[in-house]
Amino acid sequence: MSNSSLVNYTKISPNSNNPRNSAIKKITIHHCAGNVTVEALGDVFAPVSRQASANYGIDSDGRVGMYVEEKNRAWTSSSGENDHQAITIEVANDGGAPDWHVSDKALAKLIELCVDICKRNGIQSLNYTGDASGNLTRHNMFAATTCPGPYLQGKFPYIADEVNRRLNQSVEKAPSGRIAAYHKLDGTDVGRGADKLIRYTGVRTGTNVYGFEVPIDRNGIATRNPEYVGNSAVPAGGYVLSGHGEAGQWLYANVREGYQVGIYDGNVKAVQACCKSLDGVNTGRGENQLIAYTRGMTGTNPYGFEVCIVDGVATTDPVYGEGNIIVADGTYVLSGHGTAGQWLFNNVKKGTRVTVDTNIGFVKVE
Ligand SMILES: [Zn+2]
Repeated sequence: MSNSSLVNYTKISPNSNNPRNSAIKKITIHHCAGNVTVEALGDVFAPVSRQASANYGIDSDGRVGMYVEEKNRAWTSSSGENDHQAITIEVANDGGAPDWHVSDKALAKLIELCVDICKRNGIQSLNYTGDASGNLTRHNMFAATTCPGPYLQGKFPYIADEVNRRLNQSVEKAPSGRIAAYHKLDGTDVGRGADKLIRYTGVRTGTNVYGFEVPIDRNGIATRNPEYVGNSAVPAGGYVLSGHGEAGQWLYANVREGYQVGIYDGNVKAVQACCKSLDGVNTGRGENQLIAYTRGMTGTNPYGFEVCIVDGVATTDPVYGEGNIIVADGTYVLSGHGTAGQWLFNNVKKGTRVTVDTNIGFVKVE
């Protein structure tokens, strides 16, 4: 069992059963009945006399604290049977009684955390039945309490729907399904006319919102799906493709995050692929960074996913929570924090073919 890569702060509470006596099958959402930071919540759960804890907490800024590792049972829901099976999450309130409102940031992070918990623990979907038979449960199903409060309780159907929608997004391929697609490039760093495809190399595109835009990084890799937005930021050493009308539709139909994109003879060529640029080689791993290690030990902390690549093949699923692992001669270790760790987890499994190019600085998953 691993812990979430979304954690910003860890303070382990003594109030837990180690290990839990069941596989993780459920999520139970609570409210803090106060506007506490993740640090303050750690202090609440620290004394043995408190006799309470939670696996995770989320504060009103959307920061995540961990107080009981997932492999252990937290004391949260007044039900040992539930908590042995559940990951419990406390959410701070940015408003008081009677509604106990929670911030949009906290709600968004809660959904993100639930998706992450389900993916790592093999929970196929969240089923909110309104009683304890489902796998999304509330404190007030087990005890006479207002927890999780009317505002958050009202969001439970939405939380389940949104988590399930994201769990069901398989590896997304472009709608056209073409391995390689081409479109005429109509200009560079000029105004974007009707149905034109323009490349922007400055700081931002300066375009209006009526088109699709996709950033292409220094290695020719799309860093996200095309979005219907204007004035996108240009990645360092790369460019943004901006398409209006038919050209925008072409971008949407043929480019996805991780695809390789190049410009040849005045045409844009988009090739279906699963690539990501490295943020460094044999160097410290910063927030949301993907680093390749080729020698010695990684020197990383436990807050990321790491995977060994031997003869171009991943030897395990990416492992969370170890850090500072040994790099055998002639092999690679890929280490990802935050969004890069999630990318590793989503795209690499034991046996996946992975090409690591430390000269150009990118990773390609076959
Ligand atoms: Zn509660």
